[in-house]
Amino acid sequence: MSATLASPKPATPGNAAAGVRVANGRILRLVRSGPELRALESGQVDAVLDRATGTAFLLPDAQRALAAAGGGIANSLLAALPRADYESLLPALEPVALASGQVLYEPGERIRHAYFPSDAQVSLLTVVVMERKSLEINLIGREGMIGIPLVLGAETSPVRALVQKKGSALRMPAASLHEALRCSPALRHELLRYAYAKLLQARQTAACNRFHPIEARIARCLLTTRDRVRSNAFPLTHEHLADALGVRRVGVTIAAGALQRRKLISYRHGLMRILDGKGLEAASCECYAILRGLAR
Ligand SMILES: [Zn+2]
Repeated sequence: MSATLASPKPATPGNAAAGVRVANGRILRLVRSGPELRALESGQVDAVLDRATGTAFLLPDAQRALAAAGGGIANSLLAALPRADYESLLPALEPVALASGQVLYEPGERIRHAYFPSDAQVSLLTVVVMERKSLEINLIGREGMIGIPLVLGAETSPVRALVQKKGSALRMPAASLHEALRCSPALRHELLRYAYAKLLQARQTAACNRFHPIEARIARCLLTTRDRVRSNAFPLTHEHLADALGVRRVGVTIAAGALQRRKLISYRHGLMRILDGKGLEAASCECYAILRGLAR
């Protein structure tokens, strides 16, 4: 295996998107010659390239520069941490590109990594084997994390985690997360607060799905999705909406048609567009406001 020392340019956020990996322990094994080692020790290089795999390993100073150059941290949970706590996590956080349709884990599967999305979005789906159906219980983006069971002491996933929108995320091995939770009270507090909010959201959604009419639930679901994707227009099929709400597709078609006639939404070629956000909020049940409050 041979290594190349990267030129001593300042690290940029673009490196992360290109798949720069952070794994200090492996770096020294890649450096074989004395001059390479001396250059490494004198701080002249930012990264070491593994030619065999094409992977760049970022050195600690470059990691810190990358974090600083990045300014804002995309994921809200990580951004809420004190800087020192966030930086202590960096060696264990690996930037990854998630592809649409990629399954991060299946129900019953051991959770190997926790994911902190940047611009990727991941659906958590409860799979009902007998019905061969799945019910979306959550769409998670930059405001959250995937892998809450790890925070609560479980090792396997109760749901399928499916990438809905491709994009980047930071992932952390399960063992590293356990270690980080021990060492950082701030991380522990932030992730437990997030888990509690998810519990309250699940309770609210269960009550909503039981008691509120389909039209109001669709309005609630569309507004929540809008907030997640930060756009008034997003791709969405009636089938997906029916799965998300646990209702039959014909029910969605009728209720969505009513919202469309009231000029609150338009729906064409699989693209949902919210035309009147205030009107849609008025058409939604009170659960939207409650869920939005919990998401903060
Ligand atoms: Zn409701």
